[in-house]
Amino acid sequence: MNSAAVQEADVLVIGGGLHGSSSAFHLASRGVRVTVLEADYVGRHSSGVNAGGVRTLGRPLPEIPLALMSREIWHNLVETIGDDAGFVASGQMKIAESGAELDECRERVASLEAQGFTHEKIIDRASVRELEPALAPHVAGAIWVEQDGYALPYRATTAFRRAAQARGAVFHEGTPVGRIEQRGERWYAQTPVGVFSAGHLVITAGAWAGELAQQVGEPVPVHPEGLMLMVTHRVAPFCRSTLGATGRPLSFKQFDNGTVVIGGKLIGIADLPGRHGEVDFARLVRSANTVVDLFPHLRHLGINRAWAGVEAFTSDSLPVISPSRRASNLTYSFGYCGSGFQLGPGCGKLVSELVLDGVASLPLDAFAIDRFGPVQESADEG
Ligand SMILES: Cc1cc2nc3c(=O)[nH]c(=O)nc-3n(C[C@H](O)[C@H](O)[C@H](O)COP(=O)(O)OP(=O)(O)OC[C@H]3O[C@@H](n4cnc5c(N)ncnc54)[C@H](O)[C@@H]3O)c2cc1C
Repeated sequence: MNSAAVQEADVLVIGGGLHGSSSAFHLASRGVRVTVLEADYVGRHSSGVNAGGVRTLGRPLPEIPLALMSREIWHNLVETIGDDAGFVASGQMKIAESGAELDECRERVASLEAQGFTHEKIIDRASVRELEPALAPHVAGAIWVEQDGYALPYRATTAFRRAAQARGAVFHEGTPVGRIEQRGERWYAQTPVGVFSAGHLVITAGAWAGELAQQVGEPVPVHPEGLMLMVTHRVAPFCRSTLGATGRPLSFKQFDNGTVVIGGKLIGIADLPGRHGEVDFARLVRSANTVVDLFPHLRHLGINRAWAGVEAFTSDSLPVISPSRRASNLTYSFGYCGSGFQLGPGCGKLVSELVLDGVASLPLDAFAIDRFGPVQESADEG
């Protein structure tokens, strides 16, 4: 790698999604010189096109402390980054459509309470109807988290980027990183516009992060999926909460402008080399039917637009938030499995702690990069 005219920083971040932008913000807030390298443009992929769900509800156990910490930041966004990112604390409700599903919800809440987590509450049919009178009468109850909500994804990612820039971080868009290499303690990243170098490297490259980890000889079972969403025409306000379901995929919210965004980890098509996702309309129909079951009055509502974003999934449905086990001064944060928007503000802080303090303020063992098995030698190592 030719190191003539290398552009230097303290920390290089590869990937300008919410996690890269938030990591850059938290690092720059601690006085570090950060450069973010983004292949396309900031917020182009999952971070800018997701459903905007700010959800602690339904998280796997190891993620709950991270989600609760992140939620604090969402509730104080204006003080933190000077923008509310369209965050609305609408509450999130996970609907049970039968007695059996409600029993499942009760079991979950009891097991969380046994672990000391009290943020999820069971509500009965009457309370559900009081909160959301337009819901179909067969709904038996729900899990309810009052402090959850939703935000505007592209605005949130842009707001973190701007707040990072205001603290000195430098963003280079249209700058895909090809080869990464460590010489001595320093990292070098090759791009079409030259070589960038820093004492520490942070990889927040979403569905593409696996290729970079592979270069370091730390293969991770991470694969892309094209997650889909659709948005309806405007309709008179009928639903305030953000909704999910227990027995079938659903993520549902009505914005103040009357449109309804419908998703729920609906899998479309992911084209990783082409860097885009495509919609599978047959699968979207199934999701539209779920919505009509729950809100029969929406039967004739038209769909305005549908799209898909490329998201990183791991084999155990947990992200990688971890120092490298193989190289020094390298931190990973990727593989958020369709739920990383809510975690973005908080995980950026944890990444900054891993980089600057060598240890994070919350336990991250469940997210270690070596949890998938032994590392292998990188392809070009002699
Ligand atoms: C349709 C959809 C709905 C979703 N709904 C929700 C939701 O409601 N709530 C929730 O919490 N989560 C949701 N998610 C998940 C959430 O959007 C993601 O988990 C999160 O945005 C991941 O952020 P990221 O920064 O890790 O990745 P990304 O946003 O994918 O950013 C990674 C960036 O790295 C860049 N990059 C990759 N390789 C390189 C390279 N070699 N050089 C330079 N740059 C590179 C990419 O161009 C990209 O911009 C949803 C996702 C989708 C797709």
